Order: sequence, then structure tokens, then C-alpha cells
Amino acid sequence: AADAAMYRAKDLGRNNYQFYTSELTEQAFAHLSMQTQIRQGIDRNEFIPYFQPQIDSRNGQIIGMEVLARWQDHAGKIISPAEFIHIAEKTGLIIQLDRQVMRKAIQSFLGWHLDSLVSGKLSLNLAVKQLEQDDFFDFVNELLQDLGCNPNWLEFEITESDIMSNLEEMSRKMGQLRLLGIKISIDDFGTGYSSLSYLKKFPVSKLKIDQSFIRDLPKDEDDAIITKTIISMADNLGLEVIAEGVETIEQQHFLQENGCHQIQGYLYSKPLDSQAMQTYLLNFQKTDHLTPEPKQA
Ligand code: C2E
Ligand code: MG
Ligand code: MG
Ligand code: MG
Repeated sequence: AADAAMYRAKDLGRNNYQFYTSELTEQAFAHLSMQTQIRQGIDRNEFIPYFQPQIDSRNGQIIGMEVLARWQDHAGKIISPAEFIHIAEKTGLIIQLDRQVMRKAIQSFLGWHLDSLVSGKLSLNLAVKQLEQDDFFDFVNELLQDLGCNPNWLEFEITESDIMSNLEEMSRKMGQLRLLGIKISIDDFGTGYSSLSYLKKFPVSKLKIDQSFIRDLPKDEDDAIITKTIISMADNLGLEVIAEGVETIEQQHFLQENGCHQIQGYLYSKPLDSQAMQTYLLNFQKTDHLTPEPKQA
């Protein structure tokens, strides 16, 4: 088995990050096998979008929803991104994986738009490898034309650390998407190196405050200060701001008092598959506004 694995490792060529020697560890085996399984999952069309609503806490309206990838394996089991995104990013499989999820997500979203169930934006996570692809712009452009989707309905989320890893190229690529009408937000904001100067230069329109700062609000004083600072910075730079990982009404109150009205988190809903999201939207249509759901024990 070790020989076979080493042979495969060589076979995988320059994208391969495994060891070639007899030190092929258990972890490397696991990575290799996960890599093979992800490839099969892509071929079998097993990667699907889940959706999490984003709410304006002032009026309980849905302002958008984030797409979060899930892997529904051949046995029907739902696998979370923590188990595959990292390896998919390292091996470049994220490119096909995300394109598969993106197409399905936009299709569902357009259906809801046509039925007037939703009017906000669809927000998609982008890996830096995806943006680096020479054909990415054309892919997006063609996909939107093919499906009949208005670019103004889309937003891409890029993590702060991905942006910082390749400032110039990311800025150029983001500018192209911006010209097409797609908005860009910075995901996990506050966890990378935020040089304030790049925020002014970049074609971004929204900051997503990382959930690690939200978790211990309003008690944790450091997190409270960081959160307030990000909110006022966004305000001063004319950017929108949204908090992710909001689970409690106390967190929402803190954010509201400090001027952050866009909320995403379990307080309103966990990520839902497309059928459950459809039901959620239909319920929303009946009541006309959302109320927070008390955290479940
Ligand atoms: P992210 O983009 O920062 O997404 C937020 C994560 O927080 C999601 O985890 C979401 O399910 C979770 N979350 C939402 N509300 C709450 C809450 O109230 N409390 C807590 N504790 N967690 C909450 P998920 O779905 O496991 O995704 C993890 C990460 O994987 C994402 O972080 C994103 O970086 C990446 N990812 C997910 N889907 C995709 C995708 O389609 N493409 C790419 N490239 N990356 C993705
Ligand atoms: Mg995100
Ligand atoms: Mg995030
Ligand atoms: Mg994240």
C-alpha cells in the first residue's frame, strides 16, 4: 500500500505537497485519500450550496444570504467545509469545487428572485486560487449570461489574509469584478494584517467582522473595543459592515448600539439547504419580518 501511495504521490506532479519518502505519514495518507475522494465528489457533482440569511436588525428584513459549501457524499452524508476546504485549496481542487457550488447556488437564488421571495444579494466565498485563474473573469461573465443573472445581485467574499497574500493581483482582479457590477466584501476582517491604507485603495464595499470578535461580546472588553473600532472605521471609509457569528440577542444589541445593523448568525438561522431555505423564505413572506430565534441549548 505504501508503494502504491508513493507512486500516486509522484503521479500527482507539481501540485503535490506530500512526502515522497518512506516518511509518508498517516496524515499524508489521509490527505492523499481525501484528495482522491474530493476529486471523485466533484466528478459526481456532490458539492452543494447551503444558504445563511443576512438580516437588517432594525427592521428584520433579509438583505442577502451567504453561500456555504457542503459535500453530500454518495451515502447522503453531509460533510462540512472544515473537512475538505483546506485540502481542496492546497491541491487546487477548490477551483472546480467552487464553480460547481456557484452554479447551483445562483440557480436556486434566481428561482427565489423570480418568485419575489428575495431581493437582496447572494454572497459567495472565493478562494485566492480561484481569483488567480486567468479564465475566472470569463467564467463568471459567461455563467451569469448563461443563467440570466444580474451581476448586481452578487457579492464575493475574500478573506483578509488571502487579499494580503497577493495585494496587487487581488486588487486588479477585484477591480475587474467591480466593473462588472459585482461587489466585494472582506471576510474574517480583523484576523489578517489590516493595513488601513489598502482599504482605501481597494475596490471593496463591505467588511465582515470575524466571528471570533463577536463570540464573547458584550462582556469581553478587548473584543468590544475591536468591534467598535472596525465599525467606526468602516463608517469613516464609507464601507458597509456586517457581523458574522451572531448567536445572542445581547450581541445584537451591542452591535446595534454601536452602529452595525447587518447581522448573520445562528440568532436568525443556521445555514440551510436550498429546500429548507425556500421554506424559510416562504415563512418570511407570510410574516414580513424576522424575529431572532433564542439560542437553543
Ligand atoms: P466563513 O466564510 O467565515 O463562514 C462563516 C462560518 O461560520 C460558516 O462555517 C458558518 O456556518 C459559520 N457560522 C455562521 N453563523 C454562525 C454562528 O452564529 N455561530 C457559529 N459558531 N458559527 C456560525 P462553515 O459553513 O463551516 O464554513 C467555514 C469556512 O469555510 C467559511 O468561513 C469559508 O471560509 C469556507 N467556505 C465555506 N463555504 C465555502 C465555499 O463555497 N467556497 C470557499 N472557497 N470557501 C468556503
Ligand atoms: Mg464567508
Ligand atoms: Mg468569515
Ligand atoms: Mg472563515
